[in-house]
Amino acid sequence: MTTRVTPPPATFQLRCEFCLERVGVPAGPTDDPHPCASCGKPVRLDRPRKVSAEDFEATVLGSPVPVIVDFYADWCGPCKWLHPVLDEVAGSVTGRVLVVKVDVDRAPELATRYRIGSIPTVLLFRGGEEIERSIGVEPERVRAMAGLMRD
Ligand SMILES: [Zn+2]
Repeated sequence: MTTRVTPPPATFQLRCEFCLERVGVPAGPTDDPHPCASCGKPVRLDRPRKVSAEDFEATVLGSPVPVIVDFYADWCGPCKWLHPVLDEVAGSVTGRVLVVKVDVDRAPELATRYRIGSIPTVLLFRGGEEIERSIGVEPERVRAMAGLMRD
């Protein structure tokens, strides 16, 4: 007798920006936004998603794929230079790498936990562990985190 173990479904746990419910969204490459299970509006993965301290564990640490986390603040000028890069990366690796943003003013406990000394700081997580860190504006490094190489 053997028992077949079914792996848990590979899903992202994301907060719908419209109805604010947490919904499961299938991971994997896709061109079409998945509809929110609660309100039906699209949950888009092709742009960076804002993540709160409350959702960090489920969305980032529990992600089935690598996650790029941008720690930023609205008043931070250099952070804005990095935003187009993160938009580009999110659009290029949709569903294969998750790109999220954490506002350090709204999540100071996360900034402390991950020893964010200056912003922008971009972390790469895989399997719930930080595996790489980019401090300052390093577009090539951030692209490389997502597996994107410049030719
Ligand atoms: Zn919704």
